[in-house]
Amino acid sequence: MSTLHRGHIFHLTGTPTVQEAAEALVEVPDGALLVDDDGVIEWCGRHADRPQLDGASVEVIDHGDAFLLPGFIDTHMHFPQVNSIDAYGGGQLLEWLTESIFPAEARFENEDFAAGAAKEFCHRLISAGTTTSLVFGSAFPAAQDVLFGEYRKRGLRGVIGRGIQTVGPDAAKPLMTSEKDAIRLTSDEIEKWHPSEAEARDALVFTAVVPRFSLSVTTETFAALGELYDHFRGRGVYFTSHLNENNRSGDGEIAAVLGSYQVETYLDTYDGRFLPGSKIGGKSLLGPRSVMAHCVHCQDSELERMAETRTSVAHCPTSQLFLGSGTMPWLRTIASGVNVAAGTDLAAGDTWFIPDVLNTAFKVHISEPEQATALHPAELLHLATVAGARALDLEDRIGNFDPGREADMVVIDPARWEPLGNSLEWGLRADDPLKRTYGRLFTVLMACNQVALTETYVRGRKLE
Ligand SMILES: [Zn+2]
Repeated sequence: MSTLHRGHIFHLTGTPTVQEAAEALVEVPDGALLVDDDGVIEWCGRHADRPQLDGASVEVIDHGDAFLLPGFIDTHMHFPQVNSIDAYGGGQLLEWLTESIFPAEARFENEDFAAGAAKEFCHRLISAGTTTSLVFGSAFPAAQDVLFGEYRKRGLRGVIGRGIQTVGPDAAKPLMTSEKDAIRLTSDEIEKWHPSEAEARDALVFTAVVPRFSLSVTTETFAALGELYDHFRGRGVYFTSHLNENNRSGDGEIAAVLGSYQVETYLDTYDGRFLPGSKIGGKSLLGPRSVMAHCVHCQDSELERMAETRTSVAHCPTSQLFLGSGTMPWLRTIASGVNVAAGTDLAAGDTWFIPDVLNTAFKVHISEPEQATALHPAELLHLATVAGARALDLEDRIGNFDPGREADMVVIDPARWEPLGNSLEWGLRADDPLKRTYGRLFTVLMACNQVALTETYVRGRKLE
């Protein structure tokens, strides 16, 4: 049986770059979305123009004045930090990890604890309208199993990989394994949870190779991970890690990576060039299913290399504000041709709600010291939807409401959050229809509160 959703639709049609987002923006105030019983969008347009349907074979869900948007895609978050929001570690990244995060992640060794955390994690995602997520997982296989199981049970879409760490400070010891075990456990997880070629077209859950960052592994680990990724790349396995997050001079993350590997760029460590002088020591981990989080302080050559390999950026401005290490330069990064998607970086980012990330993105980029820019509302929507789908190489399946895509959707009811509802009802709107559309979308994205998010759908199915 098909389902017809009525509501106020916003989405970006086609496969626009972020620079093309405004042209791709579609607003349908009295809109309708027809979804078949496989959860695939059959038709999207004005309700008045809907196809003739046999009433007996269609269920109509009228969302009234609520907005229908493509589901939010969060391309960077940490499962074992589910309860670590606003943990205080003295401010800096490496101190925060040692004081607050490594000990919290060590608790996931307890399977019962991890099972509760997995339920909580999925519940938070659904409540925030995050239909697809790229997740740094736990170091512990049992904790990973319950998370994969919970995603499947709830019907969430996502990419998850166990956190790999083979070296680190004492506080990280419980999360570390030998080089050999790191490879074995990662390989086992992929074999167990990654869909086969036959299953992949319909699968919702995938696996990833996820070293925490270059300082958590060694040249031996990188060489072995390169071999492992090369083996699984053809099956659509993902790769993700952190890049150029904190540049505090002397002992900051970037200086520490360049110092300990003796490489020219941080990206070289993920690109097979992890030996001194950036000499090739193994296979590259970059590619169209690779996502680098943060990219605040990239050199031009790193941006070029990411664009060339179709590696995406997970942009996490709320987290970057929390750690005070600057923000990713918007104009310079998108000018390089790199795809930029949104991430909460939970729990360094202290929100689960992607519109909060968009709100922060707008503010940090209009406040950039050198190349300030006001993001267009369609660019904000791109960051949360199309760019995320592209980062995860799922653009043929999700990211907008074009026919043939799977119906991942959120329902935002402005009546549930007065500041939003009143602003939309009473706020001044431009007479020009296009400006009115831009203004309305801007208000919906910037003034939205999570309480206004009433329903979350993945592939046509409402998640509970
Ligand atoms: Zn992170």
